[in-house]
Amino acid sequence: MMPKNKSTKVTSKTTFKDVAGLDEAKEEIMEFVQFLKNPQKYTKLGARIPKGAILVGPPGTGKTLLAKATAGEAGVAFFTISGSDFIEMFVGVGPSRVRELFKEARASAPCIIFIDEIDAVGRSRSRGGFHNDERENTLNQLLVEMDGFSSTSNVIVFAGTNRPDVLDSALLRPGRFDRQIYIGAPDIKGRKDIFMVHLKNVKIEGEMEELAKQLATLTPGFSGADISNVCNEGALIAARREAEIATFKDFEKAIERVLVGLERKSRILSAEE
Ligand code: ATP
Repeated sequence: MMPKNKSTKVTSKTTFKDVAGLDEAKEEIMEFVQFLKNPQKYTKLGARIPKGAILVGPPGTGKTLLAKATAGEAGVAFFTISGSDFIEMFVGVGPSRVRELFKEARASAPCIIFIDEIDAVGRSRSRGGFHNDERENTLNQLLVEMDGFSSTSNVIVFAGTNRPDVLDSALLRPGRFDRQIYIGAPDIKGRKDIFMVHLKNVKIEGEMEELAKQLATLTPGFSGADISNVCNEGALIAARREAEIATFKDFEKAIERVLVGLERKSRILSAEE
């Protein structure tokens, strides 16, 4: 039996207010909200609406979040799948998953598809390394699907990667992923803003903005995902000591804990190389 399609479809309640910082990326992606809401405005002038964009940036910086928020802003359905989910040990599963995903998306248009880790399928076919027919067939199917829907079909495809350099140039041609949107690691102001988003869900001691500012200075190099982790760990640590509210000390401990986790992860990754 063929493994089932792994994509998930959701109605996104996430909007730009849930995404802290990333002002330039938000501005660029806002255009897609307009395309989805009012395609005629563009097509009647003879403009070709872009079919998608690649969101480029380090892990955990909010690529998926931003794509989901774009769907929320436009009020359209959101499909998500990871590039690695296309690749299975069974021959033919990858291309058929791609076909299924686009079929479902077209039926639910207007909508947004987000393919995380596009590099898992979209690596350049000419690059060295071993030849992988299944992956190439999956990539070819993806190209066929992107060419197959017209820019008026109201399906927008975003893809996330932290390795744009390895992508097959065919993916980046006009009419496919025409645009690249950069999503960098947050600076101190960005980190403070991300803390503000995630501390909202935690009962804290004192003023939130002040706490967010202090925590931002202690977390250089942390991604949005790490910061969300710190906020949750801080609440867990406070709960463990039976406290009613989380204090600065709880978050300090949480930062240490997340740092240990990050160090362990990078040690494992470098051992794998
Ligand atoms: P990956 O490349 O690993 O898939 P990603 O860039 O897609 O990562 P997300 O999955 O969007 O990262 O982020 C993970 C979580 O981190 C989000 O669900 C959110 O809780 C938090 N986060 C990341 N960036 C931000 C941000 N700018 N504002 C608020 N929260 C953020």
